[in-house]
Amino acid sequence: MIVAANFKINHTRESTANYLEALNLFLDAYSTLCDVRVYPVASSFLRADLYSHVKLGAQNFYPIINGAYTGEIGAQQLNEFGIKNVLIGHSERRVALKETQELIAKKYAFAKENGWEIIYCIGESKDVRDGGFESVMEYLWSEFDGIDINYEKLSIAYEPIWAIGTGVSAKVEDIAKVLDTLKSKLNDIPLLYGGSVNTENLFSILSLKSCDGALVGNASLDVANFCKLIQIAQNVQKQ
Ligand code: PEP
Repeated sequence: MIVAANFKINHTRESTANYLEALNLFLDAYSTLCDVRVYPVASSFLRADLYSHVKLGAQNFYPIINGAYTGEIGAQQLNEFGIKNVLIGHSERRVALKETQELIAKKYAFAKENGWEIIYCIGESKDVRDGGFESVMEYLWSEFDGIDINYEKLSIAYEPIWAIGTGVSAKVEDIAKVLDTLKSKLNDIPLLYGGSVNTENLFSILSLKSCDGALVGNASLDVANFCKLIQIAQNVQKQ
């Protein structure tokens, strides 16, 4: 089970260090089987090898080692911290930052070339959702253009845009329908759900047969709450 925290633009370098320290101590004592990942703000990156139970990741990178892309970070900067985990295709980058599928596919190919673990995010808008299940799936499949789904270090996060940061998660039966359909074509690729996950809804979401984890924004920002989410994930039994 993957439990991943996306900080977006939250926490300072100091509070990130305190968070990771507390989380690592908790995981040391708790000995969870979960694959726990944290994606802090790039200015708060710390050496990934300081936290033996947590995989530190990058929310963003430009597909280049280093060079002339003002404001971006590349492989050289991630390598300095030993970061080998990345998010790609998050809807906030697709929508607010206008990342095209072409750029996303380049980032994906670059991450693959570097052997990084990828959580690849897909998700439909409210408009697409209102068009019904078939249009949702058609939209989601289009977000795989240029993406090599045979990459072995790939997980996919299904994150309906209208559920992200809104406090309104998708209904469990709707999540199940999408994840089951994705699973039927994507075989063994771990599938995560993201979108207003919290301590109330996580258990039922993770109990879905095709759900292998959660990508969490708001509810991950407080370390004690994130630890509760990990405990919930640990208690989910799958046959
Ligand atoms: C996210 O940013 O990926 C996310 C799912 O956010 P939230 O949990 O706040 O909806």
